[in-house]
Amino acid sequence: MKMVSRKVDLRSDTVTKPTDSMRAAMAIAEVDDDVLGYDPIALQLEEEMAKLTGKEAALFVPSGTMGNLISVLVHCDIRGSEVILGDNSHIHILENGGIATIGGVHPRTVKNNDDGTIDIDLIEAAIRNPKGELFFPTTRLICLENTHANSGGKCLPVEYIDEVGELTKKHGLKLHIDGARIFNASIALGVSVDRLVQTADSVSVCLSKGLGAPVGSVIVGSKSFIAKAKRVRKTLGGGMRQIGILCAAALIAIKENVPKLATDHHNAKLLASGLNQINGVKVDPKSVETNIIFFEMEEDSKISVETVCKSLEERGIFMMLDGKTRARMVLHHQISTSDVEYTLSCFQQTLSGIAAAGGN
Ligand SMILES: *Cc1c(COP(=O)(O)O)cnc(C)c1O
Repeated sequence: MKMVSRKVDLRSDTVTKPTDSMRAAMAIAEVDDDVLGYDPIALQLEEEMAKLTGKEAALFVPSGTMGNLISVLVHCDIRGSEVILGDNSHIHILENGGIATIGGVHPRTVKNNDDGTIDIDLIEAAIRNPKGELFFPTTRLICLENTHANSGGKCLPVEYIDEVGELTKKHGLKLHIDGARIFNASIALGVSVDRLVQTADSVSVCLSKGLGAPVGSVIVGSKSFIAKAKRVRKTLGGGMRQIGILCAAALIAIKENVPKLATDHHNAKLLASGLNQINGVKVDPKSVETNIIFFEMEEDSKISVETVCKSLEERGIFMMLDGKTRARMVLHHQISTSDVEYTLSCFQQTLSGIAAAGGN
């Protein structure tokens, strides 16, 4: 019999496969045309997400990227609009500049701190041109990201979000939260999702990250926001027909996988503190708040992160290189505590092996 080797896929929380219960729900999903507004399970999912986030309405969209793009386009529907966002935010770094190239919205970046926040006084100083003077675009929107992916899944505390929310109200602006992993933030902070996003005008939530659904995101906001969002979704080609099949999997994901996020966070801490004990690996376990870990090699190590990643792939352990000097590992519900222990022991063996061969 052929040995099936073990695979531990830590590249992202997007790599999960639909579970048996998801596939069962997908198989029997009652469907209809969602562009016409009749798919019953899509409507059920949207109602559920609106409830969980404390907003009036919700809309299923094909991806988080499209969810953010639609949200920005709806809030900045006047030509010459500007959005203030973090210089290390997913919207700015990883979404092909769509708000500018497709939306004609001008991005005004402000420095992201290591914890994913942006200093409130810097945000306030960046707001410009409420009176529509000749030279400047007009700020209409502020975007936050929770959890903040590129800073290693850091949670923005509710007090901070409330303060940014107050600032947006004071200046007549809107607040959008890229909440791709808002459920991770909620679980880690012990604050309900609806409370976390209370001051936001819109939120984009990924179903296919930690929640483990195969496809989709949901955006939430007021009824009038969602009515406009529906038209933009159609314009972008994101209106789809019998999506009940996808939404059925998402409903199972919410029910069965949200409670497992705490275990993902626990496993991430376990992995980070294990890595921290391995010679040559640089990781700060205290910086791990949710399910994302970034690690580097110590400056004096002769072994590069790239070599480590390649060598671990040969043992079936997959991570994602992020630039030349760091790599990312993301925990999800299909990684067990035993997978974490296995990963740590492979790490140890791999590093000893490379060192014995003279490093690189
Ligand atoms: C993944 C992600 C997105 C985009 O989601 P896709 O479904 O991959 O388009 C947006 N924001 C953050 C913070 C993400 O992690």
